[in-house]
Amino acid sequence: MTSHEKIKLKQKITTEIETLTAQIQNTQVSLKPIKKDCSLDSVDHKMLKQDQDLNLQRLEEANKRLNRLNFALTKIDTVEYGICKECEEDIPLARLELIPESQYCVACMHELGI
Ligand SMILES: [Zn+2]
Repeated sequence: MTSHEKIKLKQKITTEIETLTAQIQNTQVSLKPIKKDCSLDSVDHKMLKQDQDLNLQRLEEANKRLNRLNFALTKIDTVEYGICKECEEDIPLARLELIPESQYCVACMHELGI
């Protein structure tokens, strides 16, 4: 990986962290507790609950990805970055451009069932 490619990936990670942070904040705002509203029938209430569950799930996923991205950012200037943790081969640049927080190559990821 050239230093230019690394700079580009670093920028991508930083941008993704910003986007995710904004997303997380938005989701948290919409995650207000459901009030007992007499005008809602049980079906509406059920749908609201499903919405909340979905948002919670998204929030959890977003937080996990944010952690991985922050971790990748601490690693990007080390020789470990872009090397598969399992087979120690280079992770293809195309994959890193898509998922810059990748720690495994595609083959190992499938092998490990991640
Ligand atoms: Zn591998």
